[in-house]
Amino acid sequence: MKKKEFAVIGLGRFGGSICRELSFEGMPVLAIDNDIEKVNEFKNIASHAVILDSTDEDSLKDIGISNFEHVIVAIGENIQASILTTVILKDLGVNRVTVKAQNDYHEKILHKIGADRIVHPERDMGKRLAHNFISNNILDYLELSDEHSIAEVKVGRKMEGKSIAELDIRANFGCNVVAIKQGNEINVSPQANEALRTDDILIVIGADKDLSRFEKQLVID
Ligand code: ATP
Repeated sequence: MKKKEFAVIGLGRFGGSICRELSFEGMPVLAIDNDIEKVNEFKNIASHAVILDSTDEDSLKDIGISNFEHVIVAIGENIQASILTTVILKDLGVNRVTVKAQNDYHEKILHKIGADRIVHPERDMGKRLAHNFISNNILDYLELSDEHSIAEVKVGRKMEGKSIAELDIRANFGCNVVAIKQGNEINVSPQANEALRTDDILIVIGADKDLSRFEKQLVID
């Protein structure tokens, strides 16, 4: 199977980190920035690195940007450049365009102009860390939509020895346990009657307000 080809526009901390990680995983990546120093930094990391201004449609056409399967726009501060770049990429027929949004207003515009995926790394990381600060038993918190998330929670004092059926998580909190991690094993169809053990990790999906009630009553010690 042909490897997916990526292009990353904007090699700041976020774009640079995506570029490094994709390259580390052996994926072909074209690194793009309008700052020569950034481009030089990525010459030996990405498969190719080019200097260009992504708000210039002809420059993007010249490098055949529409042949890339996934383009990541990681221009942060210059919102205008991020929007213009996204419009051009969609106009040129790039299939998947993921864009880093700087704020809610930026995100709204990106939706309207057809960005396929919008990410808010600072906001998302803030949310994940905040949940982890509330309790060490909340290992991760991933937003699925504005109102729904997935939480990864460690079984602590309040759940230990009880089964999912006994805790009646669905009826009591409206959340679903979709998997249980036990050591290196992941059980994707967890038994409702099996007693939970300390350090089992539950993957729970639900509305934020329901997850919040679940966390308060059963996860936070
Ligand atoms: P981070 O927090 O990820 O470091 P940031 O939000 O501060 O990023 P910027 O530094 O504004 O984002 O932009 C990231 C990169 O995008 C910079 O290296 C910048 O040179 C590059 N960049 C900005 N505008 C363009 C453009 N029009 N064409 C190509 N690259 C651009």
